[in-house]
Amino acid sequence: MFDTFKKEWTEAITNLTHEIIIKTTEESTYGVGQLDVDKKYWCIVTFCSLNQVIVTCSCSMYETNGILCKHSLYVMKKKHVQEHLSHYILLLLYDQANRKKSMSFENASQSSCMGVS
Ligand SMILES: [Zn+2]
Repeated sequence: MFDTFKKEWTEAITNLTHEIIIKTTEESTYGVGQLDVDKKYWCIVTFCSLNQVIVTCSCSMYETNGILCKHSLYVMKKKHVQEHLSHYILLLLYDQANRKKSMSFENASQSSCMGVS
């Protein structure tokens, strides 16, 4: 699960671009996708920050797999939602650590530094 997340995160910070579709003070909607891919295949990401931050994406990866997709990650990164991301990564690491007892916590905290600086 963490490997999938790592892949999504890497793609989010390297491959993606966006355009603003709707932007209000509470809610923004973006088209997010790869530069070399036609915009009709891009995902629609809605970022809502009214009482709490809610990010939804048209690919529904989070709803189906419980992993934030690269589109959501990309928008969260743009919005500087670092503390939410860190929290999310910690949850993932905790989950991973519980499943793989062989993985030491030292390794886990090292890999959490990836891209979250
Ligand atoms: Zn998505």
